[in-house]
Amino acid sequence: MQNFIKGLHHLTATVNDAQEDYDFYTQLLGLRLVKTTVNFDNNQVYHFYYGNKLGEPSTIMTTFPYKGQGVRDGVKGTGQVMITSFSIAKEAIGFWKARFTEYNLAFTEVEKFGNPVLMFEDPSGLELELVGNDHDARAPWSEGHISGENAIKGLYAVTMSIKDVEPTYQFLKETFGFIEVATEGNIKRFRSLNGGEAGTLLDVRNDADGERGLNGLGTVHHVAFRIEKNEEQMQLREHLVNNLGLKVTELKDRKYFQSIYFRIPGGVLFEVATIDPGFAIDEPVDHLGEELKLPEWEEVNRTQIEANLPKIERKTQTV
Ligand code: ZN
Repeated sequence: MQNFIKGLHHLTATVNDAQEDYDFYTQLLGLRLVKTTVNFDNNQVYHFYYGNKLGEPSTIMTTFPYKGQGVRDGVKGTGQVMITSFSIAKEAIGFWKARFTEYNLAFTEVEKFGNPVLMFEDPSGLELELVGNDHDARAPWSEGHISGENAIKGLYAVTMSIKDVEPTYQFLKETFGFIEVATEGNIKRFRSLNGGEAGTLLDVRNDADGERGLNGLGTVHHVAFRIEKNEEQMQLREHLVNNLGLKVTELKDRKYFQSIYFRIPGGVLFEVATIDPGFAIDEPVDHLGEELKLPEWEEVNRTQIEANLPKIERKTQTV
């Protein structure tokens, strides 16, 4: 079981306005919208997937824009993913500083684990970072309006805020097979065993005095990790349930991957998602994200769903 988890798959956040979210991630950050669908558990709400050309696992940021659905503002705190970090080339830091300045996006420049980092927030208040590094071979979405050498390559790491860190350290090492790679201040960095850095890192921030966070607008809903085989996923599920006594969902068909969900001892909602089949299963690669795609069981409701969802003004994703 130790090598089953190959790093990050995607991250999902509860956000506010759909158009603002779309504009921020596709226009300002230059990610590709690879799938427009609805929350499979709530067809009143979009589910946007942003990533590289194919939306490959570890490049994906996803959002549920819940504005107008009576969802409260979230409270940031322990038991949540607090910071979502994206990967860029080290040489691209200057490009992004200039871009954020041009678009009046406030940012702070710091150094973390030896890398230059730009910290900023999205329109819903999510804490984001761009991490300049030389250890990322993933291909970014380079056919958009940001050139390949500057474009975001995918997730770099996520940082969880944890009140009682020991059970989380133990879980990551023993169940996920993660190794501890560095410590800086109150953050301990782990990564999956399959090598590389970007897209495999998970930072645990020791917030022993922190208050428990509450999910809502502007907070991360869950973080997903990738697994190759369905059999491995089922073995992991059995281990989580039978040996660790965790509450784990049944296998859920998310159309683009299959998933299980559970809370780790530190309170964070984890998902383990398969790499296949991916986003090209229901539309051509050149047109990913352009049309509203629904799971088969929602097709009968399409007219009503389309009437309820806020209209999105589409903007060109290419130069
Ligand atoms: Zn997910």
